[in-house]
Amino acid sequence: MANSTNSDVDVDVLVIGAGVVGIYALYRAVNAGFSAMTLEAGDDVGGVWYWNRYPAARFDSESYTYGYLFSKELFGEWQWEEEFATQPEIERYLNHVVDRFELRDRIRTGQRVVSANWDEDGNRWIVTTEKGETVRSQWVISATGGLSVPHYPEIEGLEDFQGEGHHTGAWPHTPLDFAGKRVAIIGNGPSGGQILPAIVDIVESVDLYQRTPTWTTPLNNAPISDEKHQQLNENFDEIVRVLSTSPSGFLHTPAGKFSTDDTPEQRQEFYEQIWKSPGFAKLTSNYYDMTTNREVNLEFCEFLAGKVRSIVTDPVTAERLIPKDHLFGAKRPPFVAGYYEAFNRPQASLIALRETPIVRIDTTGIETTEGHREYDIIVYATGFDFGTGALTRMGVVGRDGLDLSSDWEEGPSDFAGFAAHRLPNFFFPGGPHGAGGGNYPRYSQDQVDWIADALIYARENDFDRFEPTAEQEEAWMTMVETLAPLSIFSANHSHYYGANVAGKPRKFLLNPGGRGKLHEMLGELTAEHDFGGALSSVHEEVAVA
Ligand code: NAP
Repeated sequence: MANSTNSDVDVDVLVIGAGVVGIYALYRAVNAGFSAMTLEAGDDVGGVWYWNRYPAARFDSESYTYGYLFSKELFGEWQWEEEFATQPEIERYLNHVVDRFELRDRIRTGQRVVSANWDEDGNRWIVTTEKGETVRSQWVISATGGLSVPHYPEIEGLEDFQGEGHHTGAWPHTPLDFAGKRVAIIGNGPSGGQILPAIVDIVESVDLYQRTPTWTTPLNNAPISDEKHQQLNENFDEIVRVLSTSPSGFLHTPAGKFSTDDTPEQRQEFYEQIWKSPGFAKLTSNYYDMTTNREVNLEFCEFLAGKVRSIVTDPVTAERLIPKDHLFGAKRPPFVAGYYEAFNRPQASLIALRETPIVRIDTTGIETTEGHREYDIIVYATGFDFGTGALTRMGVVGRDGLDLSSDWEEGPSDFAGFAAHRLPNFFFPGGPHGAGGGNYPRYSQDQVDWIADALIYARENDFDRFEPTAEQEEAWMTMVETLAPLSIFSANHSHYYGANVAGKPRKFLLNPGGRGKLHEMLGELTAEHDFGGALSSVHEEVAVA
């Protein structure tokens, strides 16, 4: 079906987006016997792993914990090359899944959805694409992702630059040649952090424009040996159990202790171990009270600052790289190998924007209050319109004319992070309030599984409509608002609060109750035959009338 142009298709389930979540949603729908198809904006499948193809883009969750768990055979036959796979391998994996489960013919690529209108009389969605395709569908699963709309910085003259300017989230397919080039990277989150060490040794110069320093720590990647792969396969059932129930969706072993269980000397030894641990283990295997006890967090930050000072030879650069405005974990930390080491290379410079802000971009480069620098390439590693970006740009109009983009102007209101009152039969797994503080695909899998099971249940029990009640949505949003201040990612100047996009309301966009609350509230819902009034049967009403 890829790139075909059949107009006016009618299906049971329309999935929008062929990224990690969308592929799984399509698999579940097809597997359950629904007629199902996918519309995808990109020219191929992969979602973020299709668009973010910048140098050294890779997982920072362990590959086998991020990949799919629904098929033991798939898990066994795909031997990931590294603990933290690179983008090309991830893209190959997602293509493999699409082919292996015979989904490709159902996916129409190059089809960006521009409108989705609820047809009350037909009890269906009418979805159209930029190219004029129309799909009618009883159920819509919008797997359009939380990190899919690139955010460019609001800098005067950005359009004037005559060299190459690329956002990490919309990277060109033809590999960019950095050799001997003068490069600027704006942004030092996980994306900017990954690019710098990957290119520093081939460029003529690279300047990293940093607004807020981050607590970047080493990824500690390793190849996956045949023995490790075999071990993983042998433990498949246990791995699935842990990943499907643990709050963060990782396999990391918890520290099993509070900071107060150790002496100050033992704590320093423990921090050394943590520094050497893989990826997110620095959060999930740290002291239980690391993110709740300010004193111990400050002590750990001092340990990390010591690491930066010991790696970066220029003391002024080292001080500029050390965060002063947030504790470890309060913002989502990047995990990158060789980040601080890169600043010791003569080609690399750090431009501290708090001291010398950007004035403008012009045809040849970037002007700060310190002066003008010329570039061949500017990399915008400036993040995304997180959570709501894609959903509010799709022209979604629900029941009684509910226009989603206006309705969410003051921040999203939803139920369980994947549905909303007045959006009948419309699900958005991986949307705002979808992810908790952990491994995204594990949270999204919970949501997709629940949605797929709900559709099967509805079919078996003669329901044809799902719409959370206003009370159900309110209960979820009260949970979000109550628990948000307690979330680990509490720094309200990050994209998790929408703070990186000018004019976006500062509302918490993760699920602060985590998997526990999600399962609890969904469990309460499914305990009732009609999901507490969320399920209904339009055809039955018509027949009775
Ligand atoms: P990000 O974490 O939002 O970081 C954006 C960076 O750009 C920040 O350093 C920000 O500075 C800076 N910035 C934004 N606007 C700016 C402006 N006008 N002037 C100067 N600097 C500006 O974006 P990201 O690095 O793309 O990461 C986003 C998310 O993608 C991550 O949280 C993660 O979930 C995911 N990701 C994952 C991986 C992985 O799995 N390995 C890799 C990359 C990304 P401030 O901090 O001052 O706002």
